[in-house]
Amino acid sequence: HIPAEPLPIRRLQESLINRIAAGEIIHRPASALKELVENCLDAGATSIRVTVKDGGMKLLQIQDNGCGIRKTDLHILAERFTTSKLSTFSDLSHIRTYGFRGEALASISHVAHLSVVTKTKSDTCAWRACYSDGFLVAPKPGQSIEPKACAGNDGTTITIEDLFYNTPTRLSALRSTSEEYSRILDVLTKYAIHNPKVAFSCKKANSPSPDLSTPSSSETLNTIRLLYGHSVAKELVPVKVSSKCPVNEEGDMDVDGGEEDSESWHGEAYITNANYQAKKMVFLLFINHRLVESSRMKRAFEAVYTGILPKGASPFIYLSLEIDPRSVDVNVHPTKKEVHFLNEEAIIEKVSNAFQEALTVQNHSRVFEYQA
Ligand code: ADP
Ligand code: MG
Repeated sequence: HIPAEPLPIRRLQESLINRIAAGEIIHRPASALKELVENCLDAGATSIRVTVKDGGMKLLQIQDNGCGIRKTDLHILAERFTTSKLSTFSDLSHIRTYGFRGEALASISHVAHLSVVTKTKSDTCAWRACYSDGFLVAPKPGQSIEPKACAGNDGTTITIEDLFYNTPTRLSALRSTSEEYSRILDVLTKYAIHNPKVAFSCKKANSPSPDLSTPSSSETLNTIRLLYGHSVAKELVPVKVSSKCPVNEEGDMDVDGGEEDSESWHGEAYITNANYQAKKMVFLLFINHRLVESSRMKRAFEAVYTGILPKGASPFIYLSLEIDPRSVDVNVHPTKKEVHFLNEEAIIEKVSNAFQEALTVQNHSRVFEYQA
């Protein structure tokens, strides 16, 4: 109802503000896991092991063998806007890490019990710390809040327990534990395919065998075969597409260099041919290594396949686009699931054309190269 007179504006309680902010980033166990996996990759991990209880609502644990966290940083680890990855505003235009806002661990600590065991290579032992609402807390009543020395391997283990224990509406919005678990597996599957050199595993806490497991130093195609099956892998067509880079005449483009044209980009894809017909489209899209969504791109690729597949049949598409970071804005969505980039329309068209071409040429053994 509409109040007859304006109500006074009051400041929300700090804890409520933090929980609302956390809710924008952490929607469900799988979104927490995405943040944690990205942190492992940012830390240079080559092994990422996930353990789950009750679809991640009871327990979500992730162990990596990355660089670890310095003991001196542990006291601010879960504070909002504390990060080792971004220091100036201009850094944001050439960001190469997944994280940059320092919000994930803080958010998690506002809606779950968070604990960390970490060891850097130069540490002689590991350190364990527990967090709540952004700050260090005692593991048990009466104990010290200070990080405690313990045994542990190089790397970091993050443990999240009782997710959304203090936000009952969010908790009740979640569906079954099996639905949440399959979303967790889905996130890991996609990251595993995009990071074939990293070993991933995921298991339920009381299960002896993993539900997902990939070796380290594999290849994209092998990882797709392992996780989506031979029926997909045997029908895949590799596609490479790029803008022509006018600065570099040799034709080999280096997006890591600082000098060249900010409009240069390139893409690598594996797409299924006409022999593969799924009920639902599987679309894995990575832009500058971020797992993102793009309904515009999805529609464009669906259109390519309408001429190739019978009605109701859908393809599998894995696409990795690398665009000059200066022309990509990653800071448009709280979960970073959308990014904005320059010349989106033109890039989508060129990739669509490359797909079209690759699918019409029925020579599946060679890699299709395009200079758009
Ligand atoms: P961001 O990733 O945006 O920096 P996070 O809240 O995700 O913010 O993490 C905060 C900081 O904690 C990171 O900048 C990083 O220094 C450290 N960190 C988090 N997870 C890990 C990890 N698995 N290994 C090493 N450092 C980590
Ligand atoms: Mg992060």
